[in-house]
Amino acid sequence: MKNLIQTADSYLMQTYKRFQIVLDKGQGVYLYDLNGKKYLDFASGIGVYSLGYGNKEYNEALKNQIDKLLHTSNLFYNSPATKAAEKLAKASYMERVFFTNSGAEAVEGAIKLARKHYYNKYGKADSEIIAMESSFHGRTMGALSITGTKKYREAFEPLIGGVKFAKFNDLESVISLVNEKTCAIVMEPIQGEGGLHPATEEFIVGIRKLCDEKGILLIVDEIQCGMGRTGTMFAYMQYNIKPDIITCAKALGCGVPVGAFAAREEVAGAFTYGDHGTTYGGNPFATAAVSKVFDIYEDENILSHVKEIGLYLSFKLDELAKKHQCIIEHRGRGLMQGLEFDHPVADIISKAMDKGLIIISAGSNVIRFLPPLVVDKEHVDVMIDILEQSIT
Ligand SMILES: *Cc1c(COP(=O)(O)O)cnc(C)c1O
Repeated sequence: MKNLIQTADSYLMQTYKRFQIVLDKGQGVYLYDLNGKKYLDFASGIGVYSLGYGNKEYNEALKNQIDKLLHTSNLFYNSPATKAAEKLAKASYMERVFFTNSGAEAVEGAIKLARKHYYNKYGKADSEIIAMESSFHGRTMGALSITGTKKYREAFEPLIGGVKFAKFNDLESVISLVNEKTCAIVMEPIQGEGGLHPATEEFIVGIRKLCDEKGILLIVDEIQCGMGRTGTMFAYMQYNIKPDIITCAKALGCGVPVGAFAAREEVAGAFTYGDHGTTYGGNPFATAAVSKVFDIYEDENILSHVKEIGLYLSFKLDELAKKHQCIIEHRGRGLMQGLEFDHPVADIISKAMDKGLIIISAGSNVIRFLPPLVVDKEHVDVMIDILEQSIT
């Protein structure tokens, strides 16, 4: 592993401070490094590998598609993209879908659609977007422009203009930023990178009402909290509201790089031929994965499993938080949960890794739990046990 890490560190750009292990393969909810050491995985590649590793049906579907056709371009129709679009539209209660290769690109598309919708409505190109402090939407220039963490943005300015940041869960602060140029309000129902902060019911419902009154589009970023992670297919569904545009990625392909943004019919209609495009986006390989993911979610009752195990995880984390004074707060929903400590968590995470548990942070003081959605109670018990040893 040492040699490989050395080579990687001499050829890859130094944008990540990586854990000093080389992952080699996975099975179920376990990962193995090059030396064959086994790890219980409570990160799932940052919320991507929701079906766990080595799902036979999923792997077969991809192998079959490789032998048929990987790519067509969007100048032609293909069957997997069509099936995947129908399934995603129905599962999200949206009406039209655009497939991308990543989360950030889905966010880019959502921003462009909101701007075009405003442009068509008012005949001018001076729209503004309200985003949230401590939000995360990705690293491309547009997505970065609406990301609420200053240290990610600062060196790359000037970014796209017309973006204002409101305080998350503070409706008054959003209202105070609205004007006649506001085309969209963008938010995560549960902030992921920002530290596992769920939006309050009053906040989301209040924003929906504000958007309705002022003719503003509500963009909900479901890239991390969507695809069943919190017990409903999309997290917004727990708030009794409907967004105008959603973004999706991470677990959408369960390992294959794919994202999407989807919108209500009237909103999606703002795009006409030539307004947006992608060479790879929606290619038959990636969308064969998406299509199969939706089938497996249904066949294996993933959502009810997440509800059950999510409650158990929640109970266990609460217990742990009560026992250890260094834990300030336990937050989150379903299988997207976090523990905030009164000190940085890097040491706990590296101790856990030594003991065969993979967990990750969200900011310096929060441990984030994003296991594959197929984890069972006994995996939660093992995780809690190792975590507790590591804390002690
Ligand atoms: C990960 C993430 C993104 C960015 O997705 P990439 O695939 O890394 O570009 C955007 N929004 C949220 C909420 C995310 O968690």
